[in-house]
Amino acid sequence: MKSLQLAEFGKPLKWAHLDTPVPKGREVLLKVDACGVCHSDLHIWEGYYELGDDERMYIAERGVNLPLTLGHEVVGTVEKTGDDVKGVEKGDLRLVYPWVGCGDCKYCKNDRMHMCLSPDSLGVFRNGGYSDYILVPDEKYLVDIDGLKPENACSYACAGLTAYSALKKTMPLEAGETLVIIGAGGLGLMAMQVVHELTAAKVVVIDVDDSKLKSAKELGEYVTVNSKKEDAVSRVMELTDQKGASAIVDFVNNGQTSAAAFSMLQKNGVMVMVGLFGGKLTFSNPVATLKNLTIRGSYTGGLDELRELIDIVRGKKLKSIPVETYGLEAADKLLDKVKKGEITGRAVIKPA
Ligand SMILES: [Zn+2]
Ligand SMILES: [Zn+2]
Repeated sequence: MKSLQLAEFGKPLKWAHLDTPVPKGREVLLKVDACGVCHSDLHIWEGYYELGDDERMYIAERGVNLPLTLGHEVVGTVEKTGDDVKGVEKGDLRLVYPWVGCGDCKYCKNDRMHMCLSPDSLGVFRNGGYSDYILVPDEKYLVDIDGLKPENACSYACAGLTAYSALKKTMPLEAGETLVIIGAGGLGLMAMQVVHELTAAKVVVIDVDDSKLKSAKELGEYVTVNSKKEDAVSRVMELTDQKGASAIVDFVNNGQTSAAAFSMLQKNGVMVMVGLFGGKLTFSNPVATLKNLTIRGSYTGGLDELRELIDIVRGKKLKSIPVETYGLEAADKLLDKVKKGEITGRAVIKPA
């Protein structure tokens, strides 16, 4: 099989011609139909996460070994199955849940593999979807997406799931309450696609780019705020009769956005930190106590949540976020475009 691999952090990806794996036991080999290019691919490619104050967390120290085939947003067609596979057969189209865990802990046993303390995620610790084939370690990680196009469905495995799981952590919210979404990039658009299925609350979307806010408007009813042109905190306070937002999901989550988010939270407010853009948040401890606040992180989501999300998308026939498709050879160029913030919606690789 032919894969584009990361052989050295920060260097161009390299073509690798590897033996196509033969699935054993509950393993499944899929031919890759579509693979989304995610912002976290960029972090892995660069080799580190910015932690703020010039500190970095190095990917190599987290157990990631090179060479590695990136790509964790994969839709594929089943090509071959191990002897113990019962639920899928050759020709079936499936979305891959990439957040593979140890299989044995309390999280893995309850479809919460993304919380596993010994992660073995596809495209991070195991070879992923920048390839014509991918080996999935267990058929349980495959989700039926019948009726959805591969290029539209692949990004539910990371961007969609991350957005959905983060939104769920703010629920329930009633009509009359306000939910703020910071960032209208891939994750933010995914959140907007599904948020009205979860709550009747008013949704305010904040970004610095008018073209991204325009895409938000096309997905549904949102109040949009360009924080480059107006003060986002005052605008949210004004929109909420000075009460503040009941919940905020911060898909940027840098020092600036998290500080703004903290100061627009209402009593009992929930703030969910999602983005990996570096930065640190300093806040008043007594305010957190007196306002009974919840400040928490959210990293991808569970297999159960991915199934729920796909059910919603299929059942409600939700409009897809904008998708641009490219050949596998474009992967390097796409990582660069993602870095520069030049992709509206999602860039998707179609290896065939
Ligand atoms: Zn586990
Ligand atoms: Zn991702």
